[in-house]
Amino acid sequence: MQDANPESPLEAVAAKIARAAKIAQREGNDIELIAVSKTRTPDEIAPLLRAGHRLFGENRVQEAAAKWPELKAAYPDTTLHLIGQLQSNKAADAVQIFDCIHSVDRISLIKALGKAMRQAGKNLPCFLQVNIGAEEQKGGCTIDDIAKLLEAANSRDISIIGLMCLPPAGVEPAPYFALLAELAARHGLENLSMGMSGDFETAIMLGATHIRVGTALFGPRKD
Ligand SMILES: *Cc1c(COP(=O)(O)O)cnc(C)c1O
Repeated sequence: MQDANPESPLEAVAAKIARAAKIAQREGNDIELIAVSKTRTPDEIAPLLRAGHRLFGENRVQEAAAKWPELKAAYPDTTLHLIGQLQSNKAADAVQIFDCIHSVDRISLIKALGKAMRQAGKNLPCFLQVNIGAEEQKGGCTIDDIAKLLEAANSRDISIIGLMCLPPAGVEPAPYFALLAELAARHGLENLSMGMSGDFETAIMLGATHIRVGTALFGPRKD
């Protein structure tokens, strides 16, 4: 039997956020849902915009530069977050296109972003990405480097508003989320960017303020 008014993926995710927030005795509104639209076409993104969603995440500067100017022109109050690795030579482009950067993880990038923001007259809020599972070949700084990077960002007027992580794949993420929360508290940072389609409810219970959800909203990716 066909449901006359089936719940949309956005509504389903919103309901799960509300439920997890309630269990954790948090306000559902305090949790920002970043709809991760990497690899999705404007036609796939449009239904979310029409439904009123305004916060999106992309992982590549070039892809975002190709896709978003037109969508943003149609929905000017849209906010775009960069959630993927950023090369220093793309910092200026990133500062033009994005409203927040989640992947700050090294001094050279902090220097490049400081310069790009100064030149653009912008001050984007940023997250420090932590390689929380100490994995090789993964973005993010070591736990030991957090203090040093915060200091470097501070000296260049870059506001780091929280920590971001991608826990190791295929293992229980909760200990890594808990560790990120502990590190943020230790450094006086208020925001936590953690949790994806498979684990955002766990992340919310452990304090996530920004969850990055792609597949649960758009379906499986072809990449
Ligand atoms: C793709 C991506 C996500 C979203 O992953 P889903 O499992 O599709 O929800 C979240 N964070 C980062 C950094 C990503 O690259």
